[in-house]
Amino acid sequence: MLTRLPEFVDPWRLADQGKSFSGQEKLRNFSRLRGLLTRPDGEVAFELRIGRDEGRWPRIKGWVRTTLNLECQRCLEELGVPVNARLDLAVIEVPGEADALPESCEPVLAEDGRLRLLDIIEDELLLAVPQVPRHEAEDCAVAAQRAVAPQGRADTVQTEVPESPFAVLAGMKTKRKN
Ligand SMILES: [Zn+2]
Repeated sequence: MLTRLPEFVDPWRLADQGKSFSGQEKLRNFSRLRGLLTRPDGEVAFELRIGRDEGRWPRIKGWVRTTLNLECQRCLEELGVPVNARLDLAVIEVPGEADALPESCEPVLAEDGRLRLLDIIEDELLLAVPQVPRHEAEDCAVAAQRAVAPQGRADTVQTEVPESPFAVLAGMKTKRKN
């Protein structure tokens, strides 16, 4: 097994050779992911096995494992999100081929017949980022104080906290006025 990922690969050739890659990659090397992290230190461990299943499409199977340091959208403190994702991809040349793939795998488009394996790992990590990263209530500074989310972040206000009776009354008043 190689530990160094080549920049671009020809997935058809690697599938015929039955190539595998495993190792670690620094999170700071993923430009799209980096901006979402509170600290871009740490590494992702990965394994990618490239082969042919039913002969037609190169298939990439493997896993990625890491912990992403994200900002909790409730208390704005750091939140460690463990990632342990399995991947099963079929390499296609044109988007239309995606419909013909088996249910068990996801399509990945190889433009110009080549693929960047780092992009595959990064896509997998981006998929693992929660839409609204938040601590569990018992671990979250804000949830523990039963405080409201900071101003300007109304879209991420937690829904678990019951509405205050005063807010309910205010709402009734407004309705009556109309
Ligand atoms: Zn929090």
